[in-house]
Amino acid sequence: MSDGQDSPTRDQREQLQEKILTEYPRLGRDDTFQFSCHPGVSCFNKCCGDVNIFLSPYDVLRMKRRLGMSSTAFLDKYTLMPVQKDMKTPVVMLRMNDDHAKSCPHLTDGGCGIYSDRPWPCRMYPLGLAAQKDTADGWRGDRFYFVLQEEECKGFGEGQQWTVQQWLDDQGVDEYDEWGEAFKELTLHKFFEEGGVLSPEKMHMFFTACYDLDKFREFVFGSTLLQRFEMDEDFVEEMRYEDEALLRFAFLWLRFGLFGEPTMKVKEGVLEAFKGSVDKKRLFDRELVKTSEEDA
Ligand code: SF4
Ligand code: SF4
Repeated sequence: MSDGQDSPTRDQREQLQEKILTEYPRLGRDDTFQFSCHPGVSCFNKCCGDVNIFLSPYDVLRMKRRLGMSSTAFLDKYTLMPVQKDMKTPVVMLRMNDDHAKSCPHLTDGGCGIYSDRPWPCRMYPLGLAAQKDTADGWRGDRFYFVLQEEECKGFGEGQQWTVQQWLDDQGVDEYDEWGEAFKELTLHKFFEEGGVLSPEKMHMFFTACYDLDKFREFVFGSTLLQRFEMDEDFVEEMRYEDEALLRFAFLWLRFGLFGEPTMKVKEGVLEAFKGSVDKKRLFDRELVKTSEEDA
């Protein structure tokens, strides 16, 4: 990791998780808290620096579009990709400026310069979301919200009373949550629970498809990939121009390619091309990764 921005270690993450699970009051959607953040608070903008913000694929999609950049240029300029031993899937973090305050590059005197496209963690604060256990259906099983009160934050105990639901609605979190749930079907897949590890090639495939959408589009439309699957023509056209459609396809394709889920239908005759192989499916998967590597 570079630029003096340190991502939390596994130990730190586990300690915080343990504290949240055992000590923090649990809130449901109808529970209330009091909070107000506005330019008049003495701490205004202070929380937008020296902070670890993990980005989801949908966060990246929204931010790069807002900034009018390609995903490749956005990732290069505004993100860090820490590499840790225990990483199961690629991790992308917002890169802070290299100044004394390690301020967020999107911060302006008037607040967040990309406010309507700010990432999920910035929308959620001061709420956090946790789960006793990650369940097969994402976090729907036994998840709960909690209030995360940072020391320097003066927004508590004044202003408006919110229910959790009102806060989520006000911050536009639901749309992000839907994409988050779809992403967890990849990151919390039972493949990992069962000890599965992605090869460097598959990590690269995962990263490109989820985060570097413009490069993924070049790969999808510049290779033979689409010729191998039964695809709805209208959806293919959407994928050509709409990032959301392409990301939806990326998730389906990864679940098929990495975990062997039946999320895509292979065209008749394609698998026959691999006839004679002891394990046609494995050979086909290898071809997919190879195509991704060559074309992405
Ligand atoms: S993206 Fe916006 S809200 Fe989030 S840390 Fe940066 S300036 Fe603050
Ligand atoms: S520290 Fe709290 S009150 Fe101050 S700007 Fe950040 S969120 Fe708002």
